[in-house]
Amino acid sequence: MPRRQNKGIHITSGDALVDFLFAQALRTLNQTVGDIFLNTAVFFVSRKKKKGGKKSIQTLCGLLTEDDDIHLSASKSLHPNRRAIAKTLLHEALHATFAEMEERHILQFEDRLWERLSPQQISLLCAYVPRRVGRKHYDR
Ligand SMILES: [Zn+2]
Repeated sequence: MPRRQNKGIHITSGDALVDFLFAQALRTLNQTVGDIFLNTAVFFVSRKKKKGGKKSIQTLCGLLTEDDDIHLSASKSLHPNRRAIAKTLLHEALHATFAEMEERHILQFEDRLWERLSPQQISLLCAYVPRRVGRKHYDR
């Protein structure tokens, strides 16, 4: 009997390593991460002041707080759609999973993992992005 084609219903990516890392990221979102917020904008206010006494403020796509909450930016210039926000959510989930890993390695992980995820895995991540947009978030 020919194998039934099951187009579109791939919860797995077909790559065991990708699926393993994806499962780790989801477990982190479910167990380690506290709350996930979608904010109009997300800023990091540096403790160090710039010359002239002005505080240096960075605009961020997303942020993992010390309490393991995640803040995601709803800014259209940073994230044109929910998919783009979900990619940042994956980035922050990887930070929470691999706390010691350097930013540049997290970025590589994020990109490589993202391009190998199945559409269903991406939809699953999108489902974690809140619908409600809260006010601007300043982290310091
Ligand atoms: Zn990062």
